[in-house]
Amino acid sequence: MILNVIPRINKVDYTGGESYIDLAAVKYTADDSYGDEAYGIVINAEGVEVISKGEKGKFYAMKTLEQIKNMGKVPHCVIKDAPEFPYRGFMIDSSRHMQSVDEIKKYIEAAARYKFNIFHWHICDDQGWRMESEKYPLLNEKGSWRDCHGFGSPNMEKYGGYYTKDEIRDIVNFCEERFIEVVPEIDMPGHVTAIVSSYPELSCRGVQIPLETTGGIFKNILCAGKEEVFDFCFGILDEVAELFPCKYIHIGGDEAPKARWCNCEKCQQRIKDEHLNSVEELQGYFANRIIAYLKSKGKEVLAWNESLNSGILDGDCIICDWMDRAHKSEAYANQGGKIIIEDFYHYYLDYPYGMTPLKKTYTYEPYLKKLDSKGRKGVLGVETPIWTEYIEDFGKMCYMCFPRMIAVGERGWVTPENANYADFKIRLRNDIPYLKEIGITPADEREWDPPLKVRIDRTLGHLKKALSPASIKATLFPNREDD
Ligand SMILES: [Zn+2]
Repeated sequence: MILNVIPRINKVDYTGGESYIDLAAVKYTADDSYGDEAYGIVINAEGVEVISKGEKGKFYAMKTLEQIKNMGKVPHCVIKDAPEFPYRGFMIDSSRHMQSVDEIKKYIEAAARYKFNIFHWHICDDQGWRMESEKYPLLNEKGSWRDCHGFGSPNMEKYGGYYTKDEIRDIVNFCEERFIEVVPEIDMPGHVTAIVSSYPELSCRGVQIPLETTGGIFKNILCAGKEEVFDFCFGILDEVAELFPCKYIHIGGDEAPKARWCNCEKCQQRIKDEHLNSVEELQGYFANRIIAYLKSKGKEVLAWNESLNSGILDGDCIICDWMDRAHKSEAYANQGGKIIIEDFYHYYLDYPYGMTPLKKTYTYEPYLKKLDSKGRKGVLGVETPIWTEYIEDFGKMCYMCFPRMIAVGERGWVTPENANYADFKIRLRNDIPYLKEIGITPADEREWDPPLKVRIDRTLGHLKKALSPASIKATLFPNREDD
């Protein structure tokens, strides 16, 4: 017997018999012994009863029932369900390419069905700033528009735009109604070309540069020696915190080459004044000041795993583990830190199915091997990012994300013992019509797990396109000043 529900229900006991169910006639009982996201369902000859602590559990019970109902006659059963992880996220990059508000809402609708509770919104990067700012209007006048060579749309003079505060509030409300929190990301001190092209004085050299029009890692990062940089960061984060009620704010911290800092008088002075030992520690100092500021506003801070490289990062920072060959995130969790698993090789949906087949995503174990029992408790959850350098339109985005995003959603909810790929595929096939109905066309089943030869061809093809000589150089020699 299988109940056609994604994510898989963690505990079902069948009691014999079956009936059609009427969602309008569901009885509800509140029970404080349930966790916030947990729920129970009893289906028998008398009808359907939902049990939860409050509205959130009730919402998830109804999401389960919406799917069960499609089976027609439903077996009588007692369900007890609760998520494995409290953090179940998906990330959309709206900097490299933007999505319309309606397109984002389609993702939120689908995410709610699969019991995600976090929408991490990447709203600024080297290729465009996407949030309306009243305090710093040049972020919109200059920082939201890029020239159209590179991966911009070649038929337009400029590519860009930004989400108005009203549009952002609309999305935040739409999420709230579905028990999804929106985590905004303001990436710093790297990936800030949109900021320093709008306000050049915030970089070490202070020179005017254009927005980037290709993917990659870029050297013009925020100057850690200038006080006005911190004033700007606090100022923009005030605006962000006001707009996004979520308890989390993401401050990036990834891919920040230190060439400029090595050669900047002000950055070097800061290292002396603060008795720091290196430019890596300077990034730790930078992050810690931002974290302290956000903590004073009652926020919890997320950052990518490179933030651990300084060795001095505030232990309250939640680490998003995306590429961490030195296993620093696991060591951090073993020491009591919190981490979120977003592994590049398994959860990055901008990479082709040839490189990351559905099975590879689904069967990845979010409890990493080097975690001890304390470290396992530090895994707050999972998140799947979709970066959009090579995803120009919604159709391609849906093809890349679906169904792999659903696989990550299921792994965020089910216990490791309940994860079963064959069983997942059966339930997934049944839910494809739903996706199409809400305007999401997933990749065809033949694409999900391509044969080896196709995998090799597509992986090489993608790498050829994605790895520019400039970004390879910046990755291999992040501290070299050569221009
Ligand atoms: Zn500097």
